[in-house]
Amino acid sequence: MRVNHIALAEQLLGCALDYGPPSGGKIIAYGPCPGAHLHTTPSGPKHFRMIFDPEGHEMPHEHCFHSSCQGERDAFIRSLIRAIRAAERAENGGKPLPRPQNTPRPAAPAPRPEKPTFSRELAYQVAATCPRDITEELLRRLSPIEIPPDRHRWPELLIDTLFQPGERILVFTNMRSQGQYLRVAGRGNYRLATRPGEHATPCTHLPDRGPEGVWYLCAPVTGTWLPNPNNLDPATRQPRPGRRHAECCHRFPFAVLESDTLSPRIWLQILGILRDRIAAIYTSGSKSVHTLLHLPGCATTAEFNRHRQELLRRLVPVGADPAAITPVRLTRLPGALRLNKTEPDGSPALQRLLYLNPDPQPHQPLHTMPCLR
Ligand SMILES: [Zn+2]
Repeated sequence: MRVNHIALAEQLLGCALDYGPPSGGKIIAYGPCPGAHLHTTPSGPKHFRMIFDPEGHEMPHEHCFHSSCQGERDAFIRSLIRAIRAAERAENGGKPLPRPQNTPRPAAPAPRPEKPTFSRELAYQVAATCPRDITEELLRRLSPIEIPPDRHRWPELLIDTLFQPGERILVFTNMRSQGQYLRVAGRGNYRLATRPGEHATPCTHLPDRGPEGVWYLCAPVTGTWLPNPNNLDPATRQPRPGRRHAECCHRFPFAVLESDTLSPRIWLQILGILRDRIAAIYTSGSKSVHTLLHLPGCATTAEFNRHRQELLRRLVPVGADPAAITPVRLTRLPGALRLNKTEPDGSPALQRLLYLNPDPQPHQPLHTMPCLR
């Protein structure tokens, strides 16, 4: 296939898939169900599978043994199809392609509560209600924590501002890894070993660039390897160890908000009127803006998912990407360079820190905040 559907699916799932025997000329691959946190009985190694057309003519589809995860799986497959279409357009020199006749719809939805859908018209109407032009420059002036000019200070400033001293934050230059660096908030940085049982080594700095940028996991982790019930070794059927899955996180303080459908200009106007607790805003080093919404006291994935339902209901219609709002989510680490993208002047793209608030309050939209500088 010209556009690699499997690679895109693995990127969205955040891990590699395990291949099973091909069936009916299709590639069968097993992986963690994107809605595994909603399973009401234990997740098995082959409960979630993806079916790929080796020629790439048909869009991939998926199946899970469980039905409680249907909403998450639908959101996942929509994100995947969007990613494939975007990659196809890029392959085609940016021109839109006709939708193939055989593109299957996502799996038939199980009966469930009404599902929020994006409305561009609504998004533009809501954006137009923001009485202030929310620009990157304005966000830096509104930021309760002053954003220093030196980008090398941003990663530690962000982590030390948003997390309790001693909390451990995983940092990635390869989003499919188990995390290559760790910052202990307020204390220091470590280069992590790649296997359980090996020691981390202290290092002075977090990575300041990556081939595709640098990410962090916005839920603090224990830092130790724990068996991942959603990633079973196909040979032994035992959980593989991981240090970035939900079992490794001891709280889920932030939801990541981004829009892959609206331009940053419109999206910033929508952020401007939100009454949620906005803790940080930074760019992806490309055309996206990541926002951290603080969810106070959110200690479990179940609590996170209660917030999630409410966030989806309110924010998906105005452009929020539902696939980004999950308990275990990598997000861009501000201050890092993203070497596969360039700024208008040709230099490597920078993941820019725009706004940082250590104590965001609800019902205080950005457009109402005073400029501090
Ligand atoms: Zn499932």
